[in-house]
Amino acid sequence: GATIGILGGGQLGRMLSVAASRLGFKTCVFEPGGDCPASHVANYHFQASYDDTEALRKFGEAVDVITYEFENIPTSALDQLEALCEVRPNRRALTISQDRMNEKAFLQEIGLNVAPFMAVDTLEDMHKAVAEVGAPSILKTRTLGYDGKGQARLRDAGDADAAFAAMNGASAVLEGFVDFSCEISVIGARAADGQVACFDPGENVHRDGILDTTTVPASVPAALRTDAVLMAGRILNALDYVGVLGVELFVTPAGLIVNEIAPRVHNSGHWTQNGCVIDQFEQHIRAVAGWPLGDGSRHADVVMENLIGADMDKVPELSADPAVALHLYGKADAKTGRKMGHINRISPKT
Ligand code: ATP
Ligand code: MG
Ligand code: MG
Repeated sequence: GATIGILGGGQLGRMLSVAASRLGFKTCVFEPGGDCPASHVANYHFQASYDDTEALRKFGEAVDVITYEFENIPTSALDQLEALCEVRPNRRALTISQDRMNEKAFLQEIGLNVAPFMAVDTLEDMHKAVAEVGAPSILKTRTLGYDGKGQARLRDAGDADAAFAAMNGASAVLEGFVDFSCEISVIGARAADGQVACFDPGENVHRDGILDTTTVPASVPAALRTDAVLMAGRILNALDYVGVLGVELFVTPAGLIVNEIAPRVHNSGHWTQNGCVIDQFEQHIRAVAGWPLGDGSRHADVVMENLIGADMDKVPELSADPAVALHLYGKADAKTGRKMGHINRISPKT
């Protein structure tokens, strides 16, 4: 069988590897860290940094297609890999989602709504942005943020200087605070021939900036769920995308506002592992391997709960619960705020 190269060795890379091997593929993970979740299950692990051109060359030559589990792949590494092997999803999807300004510009270009925003590089920009966007608002680093890291909230204009200082000189974007009734996300997939399929939207609740639970079905009207899926389809087609993509949305009285997109399998799609015959990981592997997409229709109601840090203490009890499917990532150190695993609580489809 063919070998699928995966950039990044975290839990998403691990679950992609499992899905790939179930379809008869071999997987090869590129990850600078040693004892990483994906290295425990992948066939090969290239342990090297993204500026090691020799390791990148060997990796690119050893695999038949390259995909990734995180969006912050350095451009230089991408240049080198693209010359050796097809990278799916494509470069444009990656560069757009690497930078919140690019992302918002793209979403507006294709007619989707985003929160009011303005770029902030200097303290002067910051004051202009607060005057324009207002408060409450959130200042976010343009690149590299995840799990709510690299963000500072402004209750009022008086918080502007402190929020700016919290960016430590990084380019940022000020976003108006969206007074949402809830958050939902759509996990969409597009095959190499343009076939598009989306999973049912899930409803997301965050705790301390980190995803806590995803519930399907989402408690929003059917028409909104359809809107959300159509938006995901529009994004996938506009990017000529191949693979799985996560779209995070705010539900407001004025309709849906896109928060951000992720060019990869997504934490809010983990419910599909026990709610669908074909989950997001298999769907992604199918797409990047050039296969047709599978049937991702939902056959159960599911509540996905992340196991973060000390939540691991609940595992013995959870393992005895017949309604719970456990997914653990094999991480040794349960540090505060670290995603250690998740559970899917299953009930009959309503
Ligand atoms: P991740 O990539 O892990 O989802 P992130 O660090 O990129 O997280 P965001 O998704 O931008 O962070 O924000 C995290 C959460 O903070 C959102 O899911 C939402 O609950 C809240 N939030 C972010 N931006 C806004 C906004 N403009 N208005 C209201 N709430 C927001
Ligand atoms: Mg994000
Ligand atoms: Mg987010």
